[in-house]
Amino acid sequence: MNPLTPSQKHPTHIEVDLKQNEVRFTWGDGYRSLYTLDYLRQICPCADCDTARQESTVFETPAALNLEQPAEMVGNYAMQFFWADGHNAGIYTFEFLREASKSEVQESQS
Ligand SMILES: [Zn+2]
Repeated sequence: MNPLTPSQKHPTHIEVDLKQNEVRFTWGDGYRSLYTLDYLRQICPCADCDTARQESTVFETPAALNLEQPAEMVGNYAMQFFWADGHNAGIYTFEFLREASKSEVQESQS
């Protein structure tokens, strides 16, 4: 896989949709990504979750965010999500998120 270019890991728009339980990113190169909260929680990059995955502990789903404070930017390079169960140790760098993006969102033009 080619390394990401700066525009590919630079989001121009981030939308945390607490109704649909998904997070949408638009990237500097125009690519759009959609992440369900379940998916984001499953790939949480913190050390605890990493260990849990290695022990194949199954996370309880559906994942939900803390409605008061769902997410925050970390500097200009990452997002931090605040989960309803209090977990917030994962720092999701934009590079990580872009690489974790499974497929481009196809939205109907209206
Ligand atoms: Zn975690």
